[in-house]
Amino acid sequence: MENLENLYREVILEHYKNPRNKGLVQDQEYVTVHIKNPSCGDDITIQTKTLDGLIVDCRHEGKGCSICCSSASVLTETMIGKTTEKAKIVADNYLKMIGNKPYDKLVDLEEAEVYEGVRQFPARIKCASIAWQAFVQSIDKK
Ligand code: ZN
Repeated sequence: MENLENLYREVILEHYKNPRNKGLVQDQEYVTVHIKNPSCGDDITIQTKTLDGLIVDCRHEGKGCSICCSSASVLTETMIGKTTEKAKIVADNYLKMIGNKPYDKLVDLEEAEVYEGVRQFPARIKCASIAWQAFVQSIDKK
């Protein structure tokens, strides 16, 4: 169990140090959503581009703690290539898992599963949620 926790920590730190799909683009095709978490200074912007019901690109930019920034990076990798329908199911399930609510364990959260332990730390739940909430808003706006 301890090894598993170490692995989780490694994934989070790795995405924090080497974020994927970072940097916003100036492109009308993208929907941009910005969310702040005043309790810890997290400030995240998510951009998504959808085409024919498919998420073809997802970007993030911002600053914050390792949980917040890494979860934004993991989010983009998880969502690119998914249909918006599937992406919503995955995001909804992830947010339920983080928020300590019943969720469907059969939905594959891929790398995002590493945030499961966050729910033990109520102060960090928001950190792990805001990028994903911004993402859901961005696909709802489209
Ligand atoms: Zn935070």
